Amino acid sequence: MARESDAVGKDVDADGRAVSGTRASGREIAIDRSGLRRALERRLAETSGTRDGGSGGGERDGLLGHLARAMKFSGGSIPVSEYVRECLTHPEYGYYMRGDVFGRKGDFVTSPEISQVFGELLGVWAALQYEALGSPTTLRVVEFGPGRGTLMADLLRGTSKFDKFTRAVSVHLIEVSPALRELQAKTLRCVDLENTSSDGKDRLVIPKNFLESDNSSGSSGRVSEVPMGEAHTRAKSEINGAGVFWHDALDSVPNGPTLVICHEFFDALPVRQFQRTERGWCEKMITIDSGLTDDSAEKVPGRELEMVLSPGPTPASHMLVPRRLKGLPSEIVDSMRLLELSPPSMTLWDKLADRIQKNSGAVLAIDYGEEGPLGNTLEAIKDHKFVHVLDHPGEADLSAYVDFGALRQIVDEKPERGVRCYGPVTQQQLLLSLGLIHRLEQLVKNATSEVQADELVKGCERLVGDGAGDATAGEPPGMGVRYKAMCMVSRGLPKPAGF
Ligand code: SAH
Repeated sequence: MARESDAVGKDVDADGRAVSGTRASGREIAIDRSGLRRALERRLAETSGTRDGGSGGGERDGLLGHLARAMKFSGGSIPVSEYVRECLTHPEYGYYMRGDVFGRKGDFVTSPEISQVFGELLGVWAALQYEALGSPTTLRVVEFGPGRGTLMADLLRGTSKFDKFTRAVSVHLIEVSPALRELQAKTLRCVDLENTSSDGKDRLVIPKNFLESDNSSGSSGRVSEVPMGEAHTRAKSEINGAGVFWHDALDSVPNGPTLVICHEFFDALPVRQFQRTERGWCEKMITIDSGLTDDSAEKVPGRELEMVLSPGPTPASHMLVPRRLKGLPSEIVDSMRLLELSPPSMTLWDKLADRIQKNSGAVLAIDYGEEGPLGNTLEAIKDHKFVHVLDHPGEADLSAYVDFGALRQIVDEKPERGVRCYGPVTQQQLLLSLGLIHRLEQLVKNATSEVQADELVKGCERLVGDGAGDATAGEPPGMGVRYKAMCMVSRGLPKPAGF
């Protein structure tokens, strides 16, 4: 997640230096070595016959060993997207499998954890969308990547006096991490927990990562005991009595009018990175122990992974780059040297548009991002500090800015669906127009102490503020402008509240 780091009052780049200006002009970090593949092949040939020798990862264990083997199987290197996917969601070593990585003790803080007002206002958004849908008798509220479950708990509590909405609503959570599923069940005060997995054990079952169905980023042979397409875990929330279901992917959410919320989810989806060269748009790849950097200043002591460029354009660059650049002013295209794209984000946005076309509804995505196109925005955070993306695989959070323009393109490409896309607008605009000031006033009036009132005000200031913060004074930067919201609604729905 391109998220809030309490330790720093401004963005820092991967080497810890201050960054200014747009991320679209990110630094070039790949080493252009078109001879790489040949050298790797030579090296693999030298080590063949020895089990997992050389770049096979035999001498390494954990995630690094797994990555080394994946590289060996793919001819020496893997795309950045596969690296990100494994680092975040590998079933054993992935970052999110650690459980609670949020809050002051974790690596980063997100808006719902800063103030209850965030989830409550998204409850206002959901209630208004529900009315715009004609107050149907069933409403599926889907959240992708609910983290601790705080946003959904605040949303359900905030809307609990709205009887019609509460009677209609069922909650559908799409979460890859078993540990976080458990945390979400606690936060949502779930009772009557039931799971229908074949092993019959009374626990939240191991989810299948929906990214594995995304063949654009390759696969490295993951096993899952759970077939895609069913909610294996269900419960009831004591907050408002709603049914709560955990899913592996959108496909198993039952039909019916649907509202989808994705908060800081798209930034956790893998990106591919491309670089324009004399040979066309090549792709940045990650390799290990290539043997090519021994005599080079590029070699960083202690860092086993290296970023290199593919010798020529890859199938992904052929398919994705022209699609993203289509329709952009030529002066922008001509000046671009780097391009970062998230194929799973594009696929998911397309699926979500299909879903609301068929069932009616709306989708709200809130994230750190820009209109795009973007260059190199991938970053890693560990213990509230930025670290290099190739250090600490599986131990640092990896995230990239969301290219909202790329998401809108997905909707524009199929106008026959009748789905309309709004935004991006700033988080500041969204939350203020959903009534942040009014809600804050109510809370402050009911506060039991001055300290509590002060905290409420500070939390809201952080959500909508646009200041740079002051690290020395322990003052974090505002999230009001860097975070943006995009919404899509099904045919015939009016402009959504907040846009
Ligand atoms: N929305 C929460 C958490 C954001 S962190 C908040 O704002 O606090 C990203 C969340 O997405 C985590 O819950 C993580 O486990 C989940 N996630 C990441 N990749 C995923 C994937 N491929 N499928 C399902 N969930 C995923």
